[in-house]
Amino acid sequence: KQDVLKAGRQVLRTLEEAGYAAYFVGGYVRDTLLGRPVHDLDIATSARPEEVMRLFTKTVPTGLAHGTVTVLQDRIPLEVTTFRTESGYEDHRRPDKVRFVDDITEDLARRDFTVNAMALDLRGEVIDPFGGRDDLDAKLIRAVGRAEERFAEDALRMLRCLRFASQLGFSIDPDTYKAIKVCAEDIRYVAVERISIEWNKALAGLYPDCTVADVLKTGLVYGMPGINRLLEGKRELAIEERKCLRAANDLVSRWAYLFLICGREAEVETILRALRCEKKLIKACEQMVELTQRLNALHDTDKRMRWILEFGFNAVHNAAALYDIMSGDTNAVQELLRLHESMRIKSMQDLAVSGADLQREMGQKGGPWIRDLLFQLALEAGSGQIANERQALLLRARMILR
Ligand code: ATP
Ligand code: MG
Repeated sequence: KQDVLKAGRQVLRTLEEAGYAAYFVGGYVRDTLLGRPVHDLDIATSARPEEVMRLFTKTVPTGLAHGTVTVLQDRIPLEVTTFRTESGYEDHRRPDKVRFVDDITEDLARRDFTVNAMALDLRGEVIDPFGGRDDLDAKLIRAVGRAEERFAEDALRMLRCLRFASQLGFSIDPDTYKAIKVCAEDIRYVAVERISIEWNKALAGLYPDCTVADVLKTGLVYGMPGINRLLEGKRELAIEERKCLRAANDLVSRWAYLFLICGREAEVETILRALRCEKKLIKACEQMVELTQRLNALHDTDKRMRWILEFGFNAVHNAAALYDIMSGDTNAVQELLRLHESMRIKSMQDLAVSGADLQREMGQKGGPWIRDLLFQLALEAGSGQIANERQALLLRARMILR
């Protein structure tokens, strides 16, 4: 992280020495002023893309039409974008025209929210034409300029507004919120992938319950693929549900919680696919929903041990945590920790034989029997019924198969 900042400063210096204006912009400035961890660095400059490419030895023209060049500074890639204005959002999602400008203020004016519309120079001076710092202090997300116009230009901004509010724990300025209610329908013009990114970030934020409540209240929900199905028939979140959603450990647990309280356990895949979520997330959510539902069989030690071996301790632990949150008076996590503590082997990797070993020793064709046998051995070794030693395990395997 320190290296990224150092490289970024060097890029600003090079641009300034060549006579151009150059700033850090966007999320970097916001998060730095908030004292939050910073994850990426955006740079804006008055230099045109071809000038940026001339100034630095290693560059990649990543988005020339929009003025973006990736500069490799000390092997670190940094996005450098020429000051620009945008106009003609006929499709409610992308500008038809991009015009390069010389003034940072014009560039900041095209940005979505005041807290995202500040620039920071090499000497630490903050350029803040729209009151972003005041809004940081007041913990407010406020559109730059007239909110309705800005949302009509790019409908995704409405969801970004909820996302930043959830991530930062900020409120939404009343005029900005009203404008979302007016423009909510336009969200249907936005590409599903972009909706998905913002929604997942919001759900993983500090106040996921506010995001759910707000997509329902503003009507955004109707134009959001997958989410519209998930929340169909849901009018609001009860106070208890809001608490639970917030308390859930991570993104997957929160998704699982929503599927459970909305009665959509059977539609996890359909809904997440409609939202174009990654396969990995879909699988994890399906698993979490299933585990949480089946935790009723909690007192069946064998079953629980099998889950730990099959799905990994972390997944079962998160499911147990969710189960406790939902039931209010169980100790699933504690019981699970005790069980895990007692297990002689904690994962399939710990088992002293592999599937290949079994196949070789038994001289049989591969097939599902290997997996079943491995789990059986792991369970017995985990609970201490047999020793986790190669010879003992192979002997036991032969007995089981006989
Ligand atoms: P994050 O912490 O998620 O990276 P960020 O503020 O950096 O937050 P990005 O999506 O990386 O958000 O965008 C960088 C900057 O570009 C924003 O801070 C904002 O100034 C501007 N921006 C991004 N998307 C839009 C948009 N749809 N409309 C207007 N400005 C936008
Ligand atoms: Mg960013």
